[in-house]
Amino acid sequence: MYRIPVTVLGATGVVGQRFVRRLANHPLFEIAHLTASGRSSGKRYQDACEWRLEGDAFMGLGDQVLEDSDPSRALSPVVFSALDTEVARDLEPTYAQAGALVFSNAATFRMDPDVPLLVPEVNPDHLALLEVQRERRGWTGGILTNPNCTTTVLVMALAPLHEAFGVEAVLMTSMQAASGAGYPGVSSLDLMGNVIPFIKGEEPKVEVETAKLLGRVQGGQLREAPIVVSALCHRVPVLDGHSEAVSVKLKGDPSPERVREVMAAWCPEPQRLRLTSAPSAPIRLHEAENRPQVRRDVEMDFGMSVHVGRIRRCPVLGIKFSLLGHNTERGAAGGSVLNAELAHARGVLQ
Ligand code: NAP
Repeated sequence: MYRIPVTVLGATGVVGQRFVRRLANHPLFEIAHLTASGRSSGKRYQDACEWRLEGDAFMGLGDQVLEDSDPSRALSPVVFSALDTEVARDLEPTYAQAGALVFSNAATFRMDPDVPLLVPEVNPDHLALLEVQRERRGWTGGILTNPNCTTTVLVMALAPLHEAFGVEAVLMTSMQAASGAGYPGVSSLDLMGNVIPFIKGEEPKVEVETAKLLGRVQGGQLREAPIVVSALCHRVPVLDGHSEAVSVKLKGDPSPERVREVMAAWCPEPQRLRLTSAPSAPIRLHEAENRPQVRRDVEMDFGMSVHVGRIRRCPVLGIKFSLLGHNTERGAAGGSVLNAELAHARGVLQ
C-alpha cells in the first residue's frame, strides 16, 4: 500500500529519534530521508547517533546514511523538522519553497500570523492559514508548527473549558522534565536534587502561544483569544513529562463538578476521525487525590493524552487542577505527526 514519503530533519536529536520511532511503522507515512548536521551527514544513522529510547534501537534504519539537510537532495512531500530554532530559520523555508509541507517543532515561525500553530484537538480550523501563507510567500509547500511542549499540555486542558465557558485568565506553574532541554541539556550536576526556576524564553512562549491557539481564524485572519496568562516555569529532575499546576478563571464561575463533566465529555475532531496517533480520550481524568504522577501516568496512550486530577475550587481564580503531559511525545514528535494526520484527513496532503 502506498505511503507518503517523509524526511526527518534533525533525526539524531531527542525529538528526531521520537519521530523515527513513531514513523517507522506508520500506516500513512514512510521514512525516505534522515538528515542531521554536517557533523553527522554521510555517516550511518547508528554510527552518528546514540539511540536513547527504549525498545528497538534505530527501528531497523541503523544502516541508513544520514544526509545533509538540503532540499535539493533530501526532499519529500512531507517533512518533519526537529531542528533547533536558529537552524530552522534558514532551512525550513527552503523546504517549503521546494514544495514540502514542513511540520516543525521549532519556535522560529510559530507566532507568524500566516503560520498555523496547531494542536488538532484544539484548533484544527487554523489549518486555513496555510492558504494565506502560500499566497503571501509564493510557496507551493508550507510550514505548520506545533506549540512549545508546556503550552501544548496546557491548551489541551483549557480548550474544552474555553469552548464551554470561555477562559478569562490562567495562572500556570510548571515542573518541566530534563528532556525538554534536548541532549545533553542541563548538566546533571546542576539538576540532580534541585529545582531551577528559570527556562530561557519559556514563560513568554506559553503566554503568547496560548492566546494564538485559543483564538479564531476568520477570513484568513487570526484573532487571538483575549486571555491573560501568567506562566512560572521550573526545570526539575524528571526524565520525561511536564507537570503543571493550573488555576483558571472561567466565565460564569462553573463548579468543579461541571468542569469535570465538560472535560470528560470532550470529543474533538482527531478522536471523532480516529486519527492514527490520537488517543481515544484526549484528557484522562484521575480520581485519586495523589494523581496524576509522572512516573505512573505519562507513558499512557504512547504519551499522547494529557492527565488532569484534583479539580477543585481556587479562592483566587475560581478553579484549579493538576495537569501532566509528555513533552517529547504530545509536546513534540507525536504532536507533529498528529498535525500531519489531520492535514491528510482534511485533504491538504494527498
Ligand atoms: P537536539 O536533541 O539538540 O537535536 C537537534 C538536531 O538538530 C540534531 O539532529 C542535530 O544534528 C540537528 N542539527 C543541529 N545543527 C544542525 C544544522 N546546522 N543543520 C542540520 N541539522 C542540525 O534538540 P531537540 O531537543 O530534539 O529539539 C529539536 C527542536 O524541537 C528544537 O527546536 C526544540 O526547541 C523543539 N522542541 C523540543 C522539545 C523537547 O521536549 N525536547 C519539545 C518541543 C519542541 P547533529 O546530531 O548532527 O548535531
